[in-house]
Amino acid sequence: MYICGPTVYDYFHIGNARTFIMADIIRRYLEYKNYNVTYVMNLTDIDDKIIKKSIEEKVPASEVAKKYSDAFFEDIKRLKIKLATFYPKATDNIDEILRMIKALVDGGAAYNVDGNVFYNVSSFKPYGKLSGKKIDELESGARVEVMEEKQDPLDFALWKKSKEGEPFWKSEWGNGRPGWHIECSAMSCKHLGETFDIHAGGNDLIFPHHENEIAQSEAATKKPFVKYWLHFGFLNINKEKMSKSLGNFFTAREVLAKYSAEAIRLFFAQAHYRGPVDFTSELLDSAEKGLEKLKNLRSAIDSAMNKNKPGGVDPGFNFQHFEKRFTDALDDDFNTPQAVAVIFDFVKEANRTIAEKENLHLDFYIAARDFLIKTADNVLGIISFKEKEVKQDSLLENELIKILIDIRLKAKNEKNFQLADDIRKKLESLAITLKDTKEGTDFFKRE
Ligand code: AMP
Ligand code: ZN
Repeated sequence: MYICGPTVYDYFHIGNARTFIMADIIRRYLEYKNYNVTYVMNLTDIDDKIIKKSIEEKVPASEVAKKYSDAFFEDIKRLKIKLATFYPKATDNIDEILRMIKALVDGGAAYNVDGNVFYNVSSFKPYGKLSGKKIDELESGARVEVMEEKQDPLDFALWKKSKEGEPFWKSEWGNGRPGWHIECSAMSCKHLGETFDIHAGGNDLIFPHHENEIAQSEAATKKPFVKYWLHFGFLNINKEKMSKSLGNFFTAREVLAKYSAEAIRLFFAQAHYRGPVDFTSELLDSAEKGLEKLKNLRSAIDSAMNKNKPGGVDPGFNFQHFEKRFTDALDDDFNTPQAVAVIFDFVKEANRTIAEKENLHLDFYIAARDFLIKTADNVLGIISFKEKEVKQDSLLENELIKILIDIRLKAKNEKNFQLADDIRKKLESLAITLKDTKEGTDFFKRE
């Protein structure tokens, strides 16, 4: 899965965050479905906006890019966005980019005019297949471009000749830097191969960015570029797209200063990824309020589990039913609003069960906790259940837990699942969670 990432010349805004968060939820859901997701997001770390900022701030372009990519990583961490498998940067991939440009020039899809290399759009017959635009209509609507060296106004730059004082890399066409579109074609190919499954980005990128990526990649490799395109609707403010150029934006960090990451994620998950969303503080306030119900259930679960009372009533709660509704929603074109509704139905039902039956069996709380961890925490990221890493100070206790883990493993190997399960549940009732991984069993102590 490849997603067009930020140009690191400034803090990203909450509109960009919508794209990053919705892509994160989709990736987490694919992982929930046991897909092994290779997730790639590029960082555009050289372009006109970065150069402009470096001139304004009188620092090298690389310093601007470093400052704002550090800020990007801080912000996505605070938004609880899972780290990508790879974050390729344009400036680390100049060789790959130049190789692709060369393939295009050699194949007759691109031409060099005095150190600027352009893609010849009319050489790619299916141009427009993603956006539904037709070359002739685009031609007649094209503004008269100032760059006279282009053969056609629709052609776009693959390699830009450097101007005096600008950062540059050497190439057979002279010193210059890569265009924006070619960077995504070259880096997605490097990490995901010539044809890959999912390419995502905001709606504004369908044309020309993604159309150009298709033209470049398919002309260079002669293979289909991408199987599925996912485009996210805009975050609007007063019905207008939130954007840097209009100045109608809030940075993600400004919003994070007022609202929790969970509320921001819930606000976005409550709208379908393809449609537009209006940014209002009322909606964020109500997301924050909605989370209270979820947190109250979490407290009820935690305190019941800490009491460690044996026995109790089995309420016959139908967890599978809720999990099926949750997956049915997300299997239907990632219908997150529906999935959120399922979570809140679950919260209501679980609270009712707790209120009605006094002496509930611990298994109910364990299963409720498991359900919320799998769905609301691991997929939507709208609540988190603490897993405290074990500290070194309770060594004897840790050794005893390890002995129990060994006994449980032996029981499992001997198909004595009842005993294995008993050990897990009893440890759970002491606020010790076991987690089976490929490498063995880990344990965590809750607060
Ligand atoms: P940029 O740094 O402007 O290239 O944007 C990074 C990502 O955020 C791209 O995938 C854009 O399509 C997306 N994006 C930009 N503005 C918005 C917005 N108002 N709503 C949703 N996504 C956006
Ligand atoms: Zn891109």
